[in-house]
Amino acid sequence: MLQELITKEVSELLDYDFTNYSFKSKKLGSFIEEFTELIETTSEKEKYKLNAIKLCKALESIQDIKKEHFKKYKILVELAHKAKSQEDYNIISAEIFELGDKVIKENFQKRVKQDKQVNWFCLENRLTAEDLKKIRKGEFFYEDKLNKELPFDDDILISYLPEPKNKLRKEKINSFLKNITEILSKESDFLLYDEKIIITSYAMRAKKLDKILSELTKDFCAEKCPVAPLGCCDYETYYQIGMPTEMLKLQEKEAKKNGWLYFPVHCKYHTNKGCKLKLYKPPICLGYICSPLNYFLNDNFSGKDSDSFLDNSRELTDSSKLFYSGNAIPFSTYFKQVFELMDNIIKAGENITKNKTIPKNTISE
Ligand code: SF4
Ligand code: SF4
Repeated sequence: MLQELITKEVSELLDYDFTNYSFKSKKLGSFIEEFTELIETTSEKEKYKLNAIKLCKALESIQDIKKEHFKKYKILVELAHKAKSQEDYNIISAEIFELGDKVIKENFQKRVKQDKQVNWFCLENRLTAEDLKKIRKGEFFYEDKLNKELPFDDDILISYLPEPKNKLRKEKINSFLKNITEILSKESDFLLYDEKIIITSYAMRAKKLDKILSELTKDFCAEKCPVAPLGCCDYETYYQIGMPTEMLKLQEKEAKKNGWLYFPVHCKYHTNKGCKLKLYKPPICLGYICSPLNYFLNDNFSGKDSDSFLDNSRELTDSSKLFYSGNAIPFSTYFKQVFELMDNIIKAGENITKNKTIPKNTISE
């Protein structure tokens, strides 16, 4: 039972399905060894495919790529999922670079012709002012941008794990699996003294919460946000609030795994497809609910669960503002409170999504 739970949680955390694999080991210790081996060999075998998928995700951030070049984009995604060797990867990446380059330049010309703000063009296409200068001079190449900003040689599958380092890879995977085993088999109070376990435990909760928020708030934020297109991601350093230094490093790895390209305006993880973080999204963002969204949730989900969802969300956002690395609140005390609030939101959110139909077209103005 515990083995099944570990396999399921790890699959969810790593976005890779290990649940169909039949493990030989029955004892917990040898199961963890076998699973460690499996993650290591899988990440080696799958790296060409996963790297190609990461390139496709970066391509998605180019405005209109799916609208006007959908057929080509879809073929590239299908090919990326089939990549098995360096040669496959080279062919697919060359096509991706070519398409990205072409569309960015086409979009720029359209903007100039229509006399629209070029700043918005930058925002929509994840380009920096430096990129823009290069486009004007004809020196811009999408391939250079991706090579500079995405670490293609990084081990993608394990880039979610705390502090991956190649020479300690096996050991790191093993300790990550042991953290998960402890989280799933012991009381949370016991765990609060180990920073690595806190980090893994945060990621597991954040992923569950992200799923609930996608169901409850995503449509409203996408269709009715009063401050679109930036939404509430308008402050440059939001991503840091309430996050210890260790988690800040992991945020960047996670975002890069999701095809994130750096753009130095507003919160750096905001893109035209939303936030690039799921596992290490800061508590201030996980809990934030603006007044229009609050009205929408109140109108549609009144009751005990809805009150708990809103109250705990508010408290999560407020409490995270008091924490920053190096301040007087100990790491463990802060996270004990954060976990309690996250658990309350998850519980209330699961009840709401289980019992109610989420309205799609009844959003109040
Ligand atoms: S929470 Fe409010 S401000 Fe933020 S994206 Fe959603 S609707 Fe917009
Ligand atoms: S971390 Fe994500 S949700 Fe939070 S402000 Fe930045 S982009 Fe927005």
